[in-house]
Amino acid sequence: MARYIFITGGVVSSLGKGLMAASLAALLQARGYKVRIRKFDPYLNVDPGTMSPYQHGEVYVTDDGAETDLDLGHYERFTGVSAHQNDNITSGRVYRDIIAKERRGDYLGATVQVIPHVTDAIKEFALADQGDHDFILCEIGGTVGDIESLPFMEAIRQLRNELEPNQTVSVHVTLVPYIAAAGELKTKPTQHSVRELASLGIKPDVLLCRCEHPLPDSERQKIANFCNVRKESVIPALDATSIYAVPQQYHGEGLDSEVLRHFGMLGTSNPPDLSRWEDVVDRYENYEGEVTIGVVGKYVGLPDAYKSLNEALVHGGMANRTKVNIRWIDAEIFEKDDADIAAELEPLHGILVPGGFGDRGSEGKIASVRFARERKVPFFGICLGMQMACIEGARNTAGIAEASSTEFGETSEPVVGIITEWMSKEGLQQRSAETDLGGTMRLGAYDAKLAGNSHVSQIYGGATEISERHRHRYEVNSAYVPALEEGGLIFSGMSPDGLLPEIVERPDHPWFVGVQFHPELKSRPFDPHPLFSGFIAAALEQSRLV
Ligand code: GLN
Repeated sequence: MARYIFITGGVVSSLGKGLMAASLAALLQARGYKVRIRKFDPYLNVDPGTMSPYQHGEVYVTDDGAETDLDLGHYERFTGVSAHQNDNITSGRVYRDIIAKERRGDYLGATVQVIPHVTDAIKEFALADQGDHDFILCEIGGTVGDIESLPFMEAIRQLRNELEPNQTVSVHVTLVPYIAAAGELKTKPTQHSVRELASLGIKPDVLLCRCEHPLPDSERQKIANFCNVRKESVIPALDATSIYAVPQQYHGEGLDSEVLRHFGMLGTSNPPDLSRWEDVVDRYENYEGEVTIGVVGKYVGLPDAYKSLNEALVHGGMANRTKVNIRWIDAEIFEKDDADIAAELEPLHGILVPGGFGDRGSEGKIASVRFARERKVPFFGICLGMQMACIEGARNTAGIAEASSTEFGETSEPVVGIITEWMSKEGLQQRSAETDLGGTMRLGAYDAKLAGNSHVSQIYGGATEISERHRHRYEVNSAYVPALEEGGLIFSGMSPDGLLPEIVERPDHPWFVGVQFHPELKSRPFDPHPLFSGFIAAALEQSRLV
């Protein structure tokens, strides 16, 4: 049976619990263990699929089509382990299932209660699907003391009793703030948070203390005394130079050793092989070139809205030993009458139009595709960005002036339209234009066939079949393919049945690629996605020209 590590957070939110969980998993993996990470989200949405990227950051999509919390992206990027539907649960999902059972009469007249019904469902989720994993890390969203997270804390408390004594470890992430006026680090918030956790029946084994200043030995000892843990289990977690330096840094502070000691495994464990992380950090820090990429999108005010994209661009940089500066550009600024598109886009070495929803900024995005096409600036369109590339091509190279997407309203030339039937691995999928917004998109991994000798097949190392993750409702309308090809776009990737356009490119352009899927979701620092490596390589070329 797997061993469990429960990760909770205290004092404030945004302490980087997700990164911490991902880094600990990466360290255990570097010691040769098989790991998996799960996220428990206390909010009442069934999944984050319908939440605004402004509020919640990006929605991370798994191979099996789950719309999950962005922390699952960290988990995958740090461990390379593909997450599943079963790796993210919300209170909403737990309650939905329980209420459905209650309506069916499955509880045989019993009163349905938080304890035991909700807590049992949470425990079941934690214990499901253990496979041959050595460790399953469970991160609880929110902060200790939140009303919403109480059932999750209670479920952990029970699990800690029910499983073997050496089978679970509790890691609590806290903040040790620095009060500049007094010139002191303060341990009181950590003490309070641990007390709060203890009042719920959970005694933390390891404390990970986020701090902006080094934590002196005396303060570590003080936290240990007040919080009922050994001093070595108080791990200082200073801000790191980059997120990819975190695993090595936490290892240096003893995090993985201390966790293993609590499992009674330290003596039998191999030291971690951190060469993968050393290489990643070396590539990140010791760069030889530098490029600036413009991302022309809608949610540019909140970098978390494009979290995976941001990271994939960095990975593409690592592959080329190149520093990638990202300029986030609000597409709407190109829609003003006095917009000077050239002034904004000329300094860039690559232009990327990312995924997105809705009409807002679409004309600005189309204008930037046009600029990239005409000026031969490397262009990468992702999902909505690919659709915009096709509309731009239709209007300006195929003579279809009214080309648009039905997502933006009625149109006489639906170059992009809603599809109501498509094939997945599970067979024919159907929906109507009026279905619910939640969970009704083409979601998850789908195969695509690449045209031999195409630019993308070369980018993918000669592959002719690929699998990538999707999250969209609309598709480029295949009825327009011949016209768009007349205008110079090549459809170099199609769904296996040949019906859905997956990739477009322009052979008369140094690097112009649009993809209907989200390659950023599968990029890893130690295995950068070829489309991002290729795009940054092209931007590097461009930087030598301008
Ligand atoms: N809004 C578009 C669609 O639903 C694109 C979605 C996306 O970019 N993820 O098809």
